[in-house]
Amino acid sequence: MTENGYRIGTTLVHQGIDRDPATGACVVPVYNASTYHHTGGKPGEFDYCRSGNPSRKQVEDAIALLEGGVRGFAYSSGMAAIAGALSLLKSGDHLIAPDDLYGGTHRYLSQILPEQGVSVSFVDQCSIQAVKDAIRPETRGIYLETPSNPLFKVCDIRALAALAQQKGFISFLDNTFMTPLLQRPLDLGIDISIHSATKFLGGHSDLMAGLTATRCEELGKKLYRYQNAFGCGLSPFDCFLLSRGIKTLKVRLEASQATAGELARRLENHPAVKRTIYPGLEGYPYKEQHFAQAAGAGALISFELADRELIRPLLQRMKLPIIAPSLGGVETILTHCWSMSHAAIPAEIKNRMGLPETLMRISVGLEDVEDLWEDLEQALARA
Ligand code: PLP
Repeated sequence: MTENGYRIGTTLVHQGIDRDPATGACVVPVYNASTYHHTGGKPGEFDYCRSGNPSRKQVEDAIALLEGGVRGFAYSSGMAAIAGALSLLKSGDHLIAPDDLYGGTHRYLSQILPEQGVSVSFVDQCSIQAVKDAIRPETRGIYLETPSNPLFKVCDIRALAALAQQKGFISFLDNTFMTPLLQRPLDLGIDISIHSATKFLGGHSDLMAGLTATRCEELGKKLYRYQNAFGCGLSPFDCFLLSRGIKTLKVRLEASQATAGELARRLENHPAVKRTIYPGLEGYPYKEQHFAQAAGAGALISFELADRELIRPLLQRMKLPIIAPSLGGVETILTHCWSMSHAAIPAEIKNRMGLPETLMRISVGLEDVEDLWEDLEQALARA
């Protein structure tokens, strides 16, 4: 249930503001105005578009409601959302992050934050002890990404959020893979949930956007201050596209998830595949932990090819998927993690992370399962 008393499928469709308050239009229009008239010299609800506008308010209210938070924020990209949230850390602070995470986030945490005086330790967060061992007197935050990208490692969200609360750290969680439909981190004690809304929430590979939702008003006020000061808010047109994408999330993600489950089971038994990683598979090592905090396995599968020689032919022969570093669209997307989504990470770190060159990630779209399987089979067949 979401705050408004409806189940999440209903809230995805109606969101918070489902009609234009000014006209009753069934869709909040794209308010392209750069500024708002100050009647009698006094500002109304909206003042200047960077500080807020009706299109952005609509989608920001939606993510707050969907995540069970008090405030929501929309940014020009997922990375802008991550950077906006991590601006809560100051020079001299220390952050504990997972050792397996999206390549762009790894770059931000390993290169940009240290330049700004924030140190970061990358640890295997599946071990609570490893996280405890990484705590320093200057630790101020814990950053989570679960399931992680691309190895689907799962940490115990409740336990890490409780540890953060006990120690007074801010906890952040990248919820891009699961979306609020399948996982609600704020309910589990996390302070800030973050999304690359470019992915499942937008859902149509036609948008770049980021979202955050906060559990408390105090953090919300701080995030608003940064969003307004940096000027990284999502444009009104992109807010409209994102809100439209969110309306169909349930049917899209549930259909993609069902297809992903079927493809994962078939890939697992394919001779050209050495290992298939998917939370819905029987042998998935984090199954119990994942389903203790998430309502579904998701629509992403990682699989390791049996041979390096199979990488090129697979990328060249597959016809249906977009071959690219993205995920969460209506069309299937095939990613060579080493050279695409995780290209920003140096080779020796990828090796240390346990990310093999032969790892492929497939974001399952809405195509017919049999067409996708036939395409995969012909591309995996040895020449
Ligand atoms: N987080 C995850 C898990 C991602 O996969 C991505 C992008 O692929 C990002 C964050 C960054 O989002 P964006 O590309 O919208 O900036």
